[in-house]
Amino acid sequence: MGFYKFREAVKKCVSHAQLREQNLRVKELRAKLAETNALKKSDRIAALQNPVHEIPDTVQVTEAYLDDIQRRLYFNDDFADYYIRLGDETNLQKHYNTADSIRNCSKHWFGDWYALRRVFDRKSLSLCHNMFCSNCNHLRQASRIKRLTPVLENYQKTHDLYHCVITVPNCSGNKLDITLDNFFTLARQVTRYLRGDAKIAGIDFLQLGYIGGIRCLEIVVNEKTYHPHFHFVFILKKGLNLIKRHINKFSYNRNQPNLPPRKFSDFEILLQKIAYLAYNNQKVNLASINSVKLGYSCMLDMIEGDEWHEVLKYVTKLTKYTMCALDYTQFKTLYFALYKKHRAYQCLGVLSRLGKDDSIDSEVAEEYRRIIAELQLYENPVSSHYELDSLISNVKNGNMRIISKYIIQQLLNKDAERNA
Ligand SMILES: [Zn+2]
Repeated sequence: MGFYKFREAVKKCVSHAQLREQNLRVKELRAKLAETNALKKSDRIAALQNPVHEIPDTVQVTEAYLDDIQRRLYFNDDFADYYIRLGDETNLQKHYNTADSIRNCSKHWFGDWYALRRVFDRKSLSLCHNMFCSNCNHLRQASRIKRLTPVLENYQKTHDLYHCVITVPNCSGNKLDITLDNFFTLARQVTRYLRGDAKIAGIDFLQLGYIGGIRCLEIVVNEKTYHPHFHFVFILKKGLNLIKRHINKFSYNRNQPNLPPRKFSDFEILLQKIAYLAYNNQKVNLASINSVKLGYSCMLDMIEGDEWHEVLKYVTKLTKYTMCALDYTQFKTLYFALYKKHRAYQCLGVLSRLGKDDSIDSEVAEEYRRIIAELQLYENPVSSHYELDSLISNVKNGNMRIISKYIIQQLLNKDAERNA
C-alpha cells in the first residue's frame, strides 16, 4: 500500500473510532436521562398516593443556620480590603479577583421559587473557598467530619483511636515561614517512625500497631506571636497500656493552676524529646534522646467512646485566626506562610484515600426528591436569585421556607443550633 492510501485508511479508522465513541456517549446520556425520568415518575406517583404536606427539617435551611452564615461572614469585608491592598502592593490582578470573591461569599443564592407554597429550592450559591473565609472553612470542616465519621467508627471496632497534640515554641511573624518548614519536617518524621519507614536503634515503634490517621495544623494568632501546633488522630493497636507516670514542666496548666498536674507516659516523654531534636535539625538517636532534659510539649491521649467527635473538630479545622480580627500584617504573614506551600490537613495511611477529596460535600438527600415531586404536583417553579439579606428577612417574617438538596445541611443546622 502506498503512503497516500495508507494515510486515507488511518483517517478512516480514526473517524470510525470517534463515531463509535460518540454513539456510546449518546447512549450513556440517554440511559441516564431515562433513569432520571423513571425516578421522577415514581416520585410523582409516590407523592400522589401519599402526599406529605410538611417539609421535613432534614432538607430545610433553618433560621439559625442563616444567622450562622451571616455571623461567619463578619470579617470577610476586612479580608477583601486586605486583598485589595495586597493587589496594590504587588500589582497582581489575582488579588483583586480574590477580594471580589471573598466579599461575595454566600451572598448570592440561585434556585427555584415555588410561589404557591412559598418555598425556595436552593440549587447553588457562590462560595469563595478562601482560606481566610470562616464560612468556607466551616463548610469544609463539616464535609470532613461527615466523610470521616463512618470510617473512624468502623476502625474503632478493631483499633483504639488516639488524639495527639505536638507544639513547638511560639514564634514571631517573620519566623513563621521557617517555623512551619521545620514543623512540617518534624510532623512527617513522626509518622515515618510510626510507619516503620524510619528507625531509631533501640526503640520499637511498630509495637504501637499504627495504621493511619489524620494530621491538621492549627495556628493561633496572638497579639505579637504565632502559636502553631499539630493535632493528630492516630489509629493504633487495641489495648496498648500506656501508663502515665511522669511529671514535668508541661504538666501544669498556666490558665488553670488549681488543676492536678497532668502525667505523661513513657511514649509521650519520648515524643517530646524527638520533637525537640527533629525540629532543631539535630540527629535523632537513643543517645541524643537521652541527653534531652526537656523536649517540646506533646500529648497523646486515648479517645474514649464518643469523645472523638469533639477531637474531629480539632483535627479538621484550619486555624482559629478567622474568628478574630487580624490586622494587615498578620494577614500578610499567614498568607505568605500558608499559601500553596504546605498541606495543613492530611489523611494518613489507611485514611489517605479520604484526604484526596477535600471538596465541600454535595451528596443529595433522599427526602429531597420526594419534596420536589410533591411541590411539582401543584406548580412549576420559576428560576430565581436572592441575596442573603433578603433571604434572612423573608425567612424571619415567615414569607419563605428554604430547602436544600444536600445531606450536609442537616449537620450544618445542628451545628448552628448548638452555636445559637
Ligand atoms: Zn467563603
